[in-house]
Amino acid sequence: MSSKSTLNYATFALAIPIYSSFDYHIADNQPDEPGIRFRLPFGSRDKVGILLANHDQSQFDESKIRSTFEALDHTPVLSAHMLELARWMADYYLQPPGEVLFQCLPKYLRKANAQKETRIKVWRGQPIDEKSRQAICKRSPRQHELLAAIENSSSGLNAAELKLINPGWHSVILALESKGAASWQWFRPEPITIASHQGPVLTVQQSEVIDSIAGQMDHFAVHLLDGITGSGKTEVYFNLIEQQLASNRQVIYLVPEIGLTSQLVARVQARFGERYAISHSGLSDLKRYQAWQQFRNGDVSIMLGTRSSLFSQSEDLGLIIIDEEHDGSYKQDDGIRYHARDVAIKRAQMLNIPIVLGSATPSTESINNTDREHFYVHRLDKRPGGYPPPPISLINLRHAVVDTGCSPQLIEKIGQHLGNGGQVLLYLNRRGFAPVVMCHQCNWQAHCVQCDAKLTLHQSLNRLLCHHCGYALPQPQSCPECDNTNIKHYGIGTEQLEQRLNQIFPEVALLRIDRDAVGGGTAFADRLKTLQKGDPCILIGTQMIAKGHDYPSITLSAILDADQALFSASYRATEQLIQTAFQVSGRSGRGQQRGEAWVQTRFPDHPLMQALVKQDYRNIALNILRERKLLGFPPFARVILFRADGISLEQAMNKLEEIRGQLSPLSDQPNIQCIGPMPALMTRRIGRYRAQLCLISNNLRQLRNALRDVMPKIENISSNAMVKWTIDVDAYDL
Ligand code: ADP
Ligand code: ZN
Ligand code: ZN
Repeated sequence: MSSKSTLNYATFALAIPIYSSFDYHIADNQPDEPGIRFRLPFGSRDKVGILLANHDQSQFDESKIRSTFEALDHTPVLSAHMLELARWMADYYLQPPGEVLFQCLPKYLRKANAQKETRIKVWRGQPIDEKSRQAICKRSPRQHELLAAIENSSSGLNAAELKLINPGWHSVILALESKGAASWQWFRPEPITIASHQGPVLTVQQSEVIDSIAGQMDHFAVHLLDGITGSGKTEVYFNLIEQQLASNRQVIYLVPEIGLTSQLVARVQARFGERYAISHSGLSDLKRYQAWQQFRNGDVSIMLGTRSSLFSQSEDLGLIIIDEEHDGSYKQDDGIRYHARDVAIKRAQMLNIPIVLGSATPSTESINNTDREHFYVHRLDKRPGGYPPPPISLINLRHAVVDTGCSPQLIEKIGQHLGNGGQVLLYLNRRGFAPVVMCHQCNWQAHCVQCDAKLTLHQSLNRLLCHHCGYALPQPQSCPECDNTNIKHYGIGTEQLEQRLNQIFPEVALLRIDRDAVGGGTAFADRLKTLQKGDPCILIGTQMIAKGHDYPSITLSAILDADQALFSASYRATEQLIQTAFQVSGRSGRGQQRGEAWVQTRFPDHPLMQALVKQDYRNIALNILRERKLLGFPPFARVILFRADGISLEQAMNKLEEIRGQLSPLSDQPNIQCIGPMPALMTRRIGRYRAQLCLISNNLRQLRNALRDVMPKIENISSNAMVKWTIDVDAYDL
């Protein structure tokens, strides 16, 4: 903090969707470091702003520049490095810089909340000369008393302890400090370094991978750890983390939104004691802030968390790990749109540290990147103990008499495996009882009033629910159109599957794991504990069960319906299908017994289904890449998507027409294609009509350069405030 004699100018970032920043005056007694938050007047309200830079002059009209209210921080909430990363993100993703900066902060600090000191101070005695000591002894018994106490305590005394000795301790200790007889430090609890679990003896493959990555710890490199399910990737991460902790560096360890199962947390705890903090969307803003603060203070060395934990600050970050790097939950699809994997790679590059991306089913982007500079591939193609992942076999549903989504063949298999004492995992990516409810008389279908979507029957709730907006109706007894009572439902959800299997296998425990069955709280963990015991049971679930779990008693896994993906409008659907198929099949056969994996399909001859049987993920991924190259899809073409939504489709389309009007400088660039505007696939969602405008180019840099100049102009198009628009660079789906 420097002292100044006059008012000064500073540029601030505010969390508003505007591409420019704002100048304010700061008074000479206010802190002026970049990264400090202030309360600022903004229009008739006040807002939180983050100081970006000081200067002597402003480009703005002096009379319009207002003065800040108070500073909210003594120390910056964003380090110089984070400010730089945020600048890069704003530039790369063409997002309003202020909003990006606020995205990099824990939610708790985005409001005018003060930073909480999570640490405690302890006072210790300092060596002083004999003369000064005598003086204290003689003249101030109260000072002498406290001095003796802190000198006698080997670890120092904190405020509470000092207060017990003397309720007026604070002024006394200040006096001792001023004489140089006492000083304080932050108390650091000794981390529990003695792990309760040492980890297995590494396999040769694991050791080789670890050595090879560890040999490159002092500089930026992207390591793709391409290891089959159960090959011991987590053990590799743990060993790399141990090495980092041994050299007093910190590690950010990202997992997908659903990956923070009690199992992984228990493993981390067993290995690293209390040296980690956890952050995910199930925690309160305060809890997440506390985790952020602990990590920033260095009280813990590992930040284990989901997507936004990437923005945890550290003075000594040594390594970033991204587990299940292919997972879609790393892409943030609302607010500031960014891909945590890509931002993490940039962050590692800025800090000149390595980053490890791990997956059994690497994303096509990462596979495509493997021939880039600084990109290294490490393979683990064996499971350390037991059997290899089972081959995937197909069950032809075409002529089967299907019972609640299960072919007779599958039901027989389930019975067999349960009979042999195994556990069974069934993957069905549709929650609820049935996805279609309709009248047999007049063909009325239950639709959401706010979305272009059907309502799903949830029988246990006696309700029809919209999975997009939460709209709910009581389960109708008769048709709202024709009063007929002959209402039927079609299709199978996890709830129905659970009910039916309960009838077929009444003596077997059934565990359903989906968002409805798990809800908040500890239900999920409880179910997983049951699973861990190893007794025969059937596990039914959506995406939540596809990855991250390691249960040795599962011997059979099956995907009930693989065909949705074959007809999906999304170019990513096939990639996601093979990833799911390999992940789900990889849950089985991890223990002492060989596993089996089945996929039910009506199209066993489809090339993709045939490819699954051949068991070669990498080959399928390369084929998908080849196809995308031919079709000019990402990652070969880069996509920027403008989206707009309004209270009518016309509004949304008009907005995008206006934006398109501003894009004319791009039209004479031959390799930029502009498609749309057109209505979005699901046009109406939560009562708003949505449209999109798509820019495609094989040169993202060129595309971004062209857009960068246009963005402020687009922002200035004055039109109906009821229409919202966003821009999505590297849109995940079209
Ligand atoms: P992944 O992360 O690749 O799915 P994990 O690290 O979870 O694999 O390992 C799968 C299982 O194998 C775990 O139960 C783990 O404890 C065990 N395992 C990993 N490495 C070894 C090893 N070197 N020796 C014995 N068991 C191991
Ligand atoms: Zn009807
Ligand atoms: Zn809805």
